[in-house]
Amino acid sequence: MSDPAWLSGVTGPAGPELSCEQCFEELDRYVELELSGASADAEIPGMRAHLEGCPACHEDHESLLALVAAERAPGD
Ligand SMILES: [Zn+2]
Repeated sequence: MSDPAWLSGVTGPAGPELSCEQCFEELDRYVELELSGASADAEIPGMRAHLEGCPACHEDHESLLALVAAERAPGD
């Protein structure tokens, strides 16, 4: 069953939003882009909207970001 158009138009995010599956597939790339200073949101539209609305993916993103950032931090 799909949402009626009026419902998704009213409650949906402003832009396209990814599914959890798509989010998971793009998460590595998204984090890479974020850390490289690229426009991650422009490269992967809908990602931020999904992360903000999905606690599970939000947490995945936080841990991956911390992990990759730690790997890249200059060892001292
Ligand atoms: Zn999700």
